[in-house]
Amino acid sequence: MKTALFLLFCLALPCFSQNLSSSKEVDAVYPAAHALYIDLHQSPELSSHEIQTASKLATRLRSLGYEVTEGVGGTGVVAILKNGAGPTVMLRTELDALPVEEKTGLPYASKVHAKDDAGLDVSVMHACGHDLHMAALVGTAEIMAHSKTTWHGTLMLIGQPAEETISGAKRMIEDGLFTRFPKPAVGVALHVGNILPAGQVGITPGIYNTNADSLRITIYGKGGHGAAPNSTIDPIVIAARTILALQTIVSREVTPGEMAVVTVGYIRAGTKNNIIPDHAELGLTVRTYKADVRRQVLAAIARITNAESLAGGAPHEPLIEHLESTDSVYNDPALAQRLRAPLEASLGKDNVITTEPKPPSEDYAYFVEQGVPSLYMNLGGADPQKFAESKNGGAMLPSNHSPYFAPDVDPALHTGIQAEVAVLRNLLNGVPQ
Ligand SMILES: [Zn+2]
Ligand SMILES: [Zn+2]
Repeated sequence: MKTALFLLFCLALPCFSQNLSSSKEVDAVYPAAHALYIDLHQSPELSSHEIQTASKLATRLRSLGYEVTEGVGGTGVVAILKNGAGPTVMLRTELDALPVEEKTGLPYASKVHAKDDAGLDVSVMHACGHDLHMAALVGTAEIMAHSKTTWHGTLMLIGQPAEETISGAKRMIEDGLFTRFPKPAVGVALHVGNILPAGQVGITPGIYNTNADSLRITIYGKGGHGAAPNSTIDPIVIAARTILALQTIVSREVTPGEMAVVTVGYIRAGTKNNIIPDHAELGLTVRTYKADVRRQVLAAIARITNAESLAGGAPHEPLIEHLESTDSVYNDPALAQRLRAPLEASLGKDNVITTEPKPPSEDYAYFVEQGVPSLYMNLGGADPQKFAESKNGGAMLPSNHSPYFAPDVDPALHTGIQAEVAVLRNLLNGVPQ
């Protein structure tokens, strides 16, 4: 209720007209933020292992006067700055990097290797840009700490671990993020990517990205000699038919125009040419925007998988396991509309773009589900010239998670800080609760 009143109050009043962020004040904190970016980029850590990363963030925020708690939901960091009466507003960054070998050729490219959770040696890279998000958050934290006359309320900064494994947000909540600390009236986050040129931010009112569901399907057969298939029930053949039939869900069952993706990302079965195995395993990712389409697609997967096993004479029903899943992030439309004004005033009207929902998913949705209306922004990361060339038939720019992903740090980092300060000041500008 408080939240609703807060939003209503601010929509009715010109809360946004004062204390905009300026490029000049970002200039003052930029060298330190950039140095932190380079340091983080060169020392990435895998999901749930962000020990040094969290410690660096905590140390910087503590030195700026924030009350910092570490170890929230694993390696999570919560930093609070109280500044009189007013709402609590949360700004979130992720902490983790990916098992990717960097091939950008940058002088500060990561050379880090680590053991993954399966014990394998993997290269590690900030291939999703979370290093830039952290550097932006610390730059923003510094400006906010040094300009306390421009806002009031409680600023809550969080460093969330394990975003890439869709587990960190949930674990922070389970560890008391919104009970041990003040529950925010509003949440803000951003993500850098090549969908916009550096210097711009994108706002997507309503659904921001997809629901994501990961499934593991085990199809059972009866093993035996490869030369005597008549004495076996071949799970590879059943799996092959299942994979093809699953592809009819999007093409034949979902309403044309509705967003749905069914991908079988791996199939594992067998050990040797002349042995028919007794089971086959499929790994699926399913992406949708709408809840009813999600239910429809998941039900169709179960129906088709069961029916193909039945048709193949399988000795047991297949096992369908729902592993990681997350809901789509929902951008509060009123909040998106309200925050466009300070962003346009700070960055220039032409640099605030309305963006379409996009397929990658992420676990920020858990915070929204806890009743924290939010704005999750896109931050342009593409070199503006290369971006223009790619739009005119030139080379496609690498996506997040690519070994070649390399945001155009200056101005992307600069713009990220400026956008965050503009939004936070607007949200923290004089609405006592
Ligand atoms: Zn990612
Ligand atoms: Zn990411």
